[in-house]
Amino acid sequence: MNKSQLQQHDREHLLHPFTDFHDLGRQGTRVITSAEGAYITDIDGHRMLDGMSGLWCCNLGYSRREISEAIYEQLNKLPFYNSFFQCTTVPSIELADLLAEVTPAHMNNVFFTGSGSEANDTNLRIIRRYWDLKDQPEKRIVISRKNAYHGSTIGGASLGGMSGMHKQFQALDYIEHIQQPYWFGEGGDMSPEEFGIYAARCLDEKIQELGPEKVAAFIAEPIQGAGGVIIPPETYWPEVKKVLDQYDILLVMDEVIFGFGRTGQWFGADYYGMQPDLMTFAKAVTNGYFPLGGTMISDRVADVIKSKGGEFTHGYTYSAHPAACMAGIATLNILRDEKIIENVRDNTGPYLAQRWAELADHPIVGEARNLGLVGALELVKDKGSRARFDDKCTAGTVCRDMSIKNGLVMRATGDTMIIAPPLIITRDQVDELVEKARRALDDTAKAMA
Ligand SMILES: *Cc1c(COP(=O)(O)O)cnc(C)c1O
Repeated sequence: MNKSQLQQHDREHLLHPFTDFHDLGRQGTRVITSAEGAYITDIDGHRMLDGMSGLWCCNLGYSRREISEAIYEQLNKLPFYNSFFQCTTVPSIELADLLAEVTPAHMNNVFFTGSGSEANDTNLRIIRRYWDLKDQPEKRIVISRKNAYHGSTIGGASLGGMSGMHKQFQALDYIEHIQQPYWFGEGGDMSPEEFGIYAARCLDEKIQELGPEKVAAFIAEPIQGAGGVIIPPETYWPEVKKVLDQYDILLVMDEVIFGFGRTGQWFGADYYGMQPDLMTFAKAVTNGYFPLGGTMISDRVADVIKSKGGEFTHGYTYSAHPAACMAGIATLNILRDEKIIENVRDNTGPYLAQRWAELADHPIVGEARNLGLVGALELVKDKGSRARFDDKCTAGTVCRDMSIKNGLVMRATGDTMIIAPPLIITRDQVDELVEKARRALDDTAKAMA
C-alpha cells in the first residue's frame, strides 16, 4: 500500500488512542516506518529527532539489539507461561530480583502487569487489601491531584485528574482530587516556594476534611508528565512528606515516566527523597520494546499482604510474561552497565538545563523549565501577564506541527510544549534539539502574529 492507501485504511478500520476521529479523517495519519538511535523516519523519508522517546518509553533509543534479541530468544525458548497456580518462569524471577536491587531499599516485592494503567488498578486492589487485612476497612478514600495522569482503565482514569477524560466516563466514587503544584499556570501572585507549600497544605486540608481514618492513600507522579511536565516547586515534596508523616496514609508514586533514570536518579522517589509504599512503573522498563508494567511494594505493605493468609484474588494473564521480563532484564542491564543514568545526572542533564534555559528569552516563551532530561515551554502572547494566545490552544498545535516540519518531535499539552528525549541523547543532539525548537518557536510566532 502507498501512503494515501495506508491513510485511507487507517481511517476506515483503526481507532487511535486520545484522538479526534473526525480531525484525523481530514488530516491523515503520519506513518512512521523506521527508527534508529534517537531518530524516527516517516513514510516520506522525513527524519526527525525524537524529542519524546516514542511515548516516554524508548529511553535507550531505537537501536538496542540486546533487547530485541533477548525477546526473540525467549520467544523461541518459552514464548509464554503464566505465573498463576504456583507456577513461575526464570525471567520473571530474575527481573524481580533486579528491580528489588535498583528500587529504593525498602521496596523488595513486585507485582507485574501488562501496562501502567493495569498497575494502577493493581495499586487500588493492594491498597484495599492492605487496610482490610489491618482491620481498618473504613480506610477507603484515595486522594489524587487535578490534571494527574494515571492511565486509561476505569481505575487509572478515575485516579487521573484530567477533566476532559472525566467528562466521558463515570469515575469511581472513592477518589478525591486536590490542587496540582502547577506554579506557572495556577500560582497567581505567590512565589514558587510559597505556592509549593500551599499546594502541599491542600493535601493536609483534604485529609482533615475527609477524616484521616477514612483516607487510605495519596497517589502522585513525582513530576506530572502528560499534564504538561509540571515540575513542582522545591518546597512541595518535603512539605507533602511532613503532611503524610502525621497520618497513617499510604503513598503511591506513579513512576511510569520518571522511573528508570529520567531525573538523573533511578526513580523520582530517589530524586525527591520520598519513601513510597507503592511505586507504579511501565513504559521505559522494557525501553518500550515489549508491553510490561508493574508496581513495587514496600516491605511494610508486603509484610501484611504476604504474611496474613487468604488468596489475593487479582492478576492478569500476562502478569510476568517471560518475553516482557527478558526485555526488562536487558534494559536494566544496559542502564547499569553503561552508566546511562549517571551520564544524565552529570553530563547531558546539566547541559540540557543550560541550553533549554536560553529559550526563555524567546518572545513567545513565558517559562522554560527542565529537570534531568525533561523540559517544558509555556507559550504566551504576553510574557508579563502570562496571557495565552487564545483559549483553544492554537499556539500549541501550531508549534507542534512547526516542530515536526523542522525535524523535531515535540508534544503539545495545551499551550505547553514538552520534551523527554532518549537518555542516550548526546550533547551535539541537545544542541540540535534546542536549535530546532527555536526555529519552531520562530515559525509559531510568525503564524500567530
Ligand atoms: C503512561 C502513563 C500511565 C499509563 O500507562 P499505560 O501503559 O499507557 O497504561 C500511567 N501513569 C503515568 C504517569 C503515565 O505516564
